[in-house]
Amino acid sequence: MSDDIPFDKSFDLPPGRVEEVMPGVRRLLCNNPGPFTFKGTVTYIVGRDQVAIIDPGPIDEAHIAALLDAVRGETVTHILVTHTHRDHSPAAASIKAATGAKTYGEGPHRAARALHIGEMPPLDSSGDRDFHPDIVLPDGEVVSSPGWRLEAVTTPGHTANHIAFALEGTPVLFCGDHVMAWSTPVVAPPDGAMSDYMASLEKLGRRAETLYFPGHGGAVRDAPRFVQLYIAHRKAREASILRRLATGETDIPALVRSIYIGLDPRLTKAAGLSVLAHLEDLTARGLVATAGTPSIEGRYRLVVAAG
Ligand SMILES: [Zn+2]
Repeated sequence: MSDDIPFDKSFDLPPGRVEEVMPGVRRLLCNNPGPFTFKGTVTYIVGRDQVAIIDPGPIDEAHIAALLDAVRGETVTHILVTHTHRDHSPAAASIKAATGAKTYGEGPHRAARALHIGEMPPLDSSGDRDFHPDIVLPDGEVVSSPGWRLEAVTTPGHTANHIAFALEGTPVLFCGDHVMAWSTPVVAPPDGAMSDYMASLEKLGRRAETLYFPGHGGAVRDAPRFVQLYIAHRKAREASILRRLATGETDIPALVRSIYIGLDPRLTKAAGLSVLAHLEDLTARGLVATAGTPSIEGRYRLVVAAG
């Protein structure tokens, strides 16, 4: 989709195999590959003996069994959820039932803004409205067990309730779907909001962690530089939208055709929503105008500054 970010698509973990990626951090891949999930959801196990599970994953019996098997003989003290998309949070209920651990995060799933009249959540099957965490984590809250401490870093944008987790005393951030090594994530209204997404990138850019473990694919190394490339990528996307609008009023399908060259056809709808996310942001900033609220069917034009 873009050649300005050095994406790394190498990720060879077979589903069901537990791999220790560094001392005290294990990962396990769920077999739910797809255009948005890459090879599948990656679940992390933090600590030894008293462990946290980050993103139990979807309702997938084989994955849930493999995860419970991986922690057999240990105590699961915390079940942490980065966000309430169906590939991340639903298995929390099964893991809680099997282990008695409490769930932490923010839920249930909610949109980043009110729905417009007649608007359906466009990727509606993706939200988990059943996840009600036992403990809601505000920004900066630390949860811990002997051997590890995890700090909640709220990172809205991909979803309104997205949280990353920093592993204290290490360079590690479990970053959910906010930053990934293999692709940029979808920021799709009404789940996602571009202004929030950019603000969360800036927030991560000010932090010290250098090694990110995302919800899909392999680790992001040299993360602060990667985050800056992400920011530049979104700004470049915004600039191409503004350039296209400078040639005249247009709609989202035309913008997608002119901006996303060689797009996987399965991602056309998501690309339209990503463009909508930019247009919502640009409209709120007074740079772009449309009739009524920005919508996927709307026509958009540049606001030319007077004087
Ligand atoms: Zn995901």
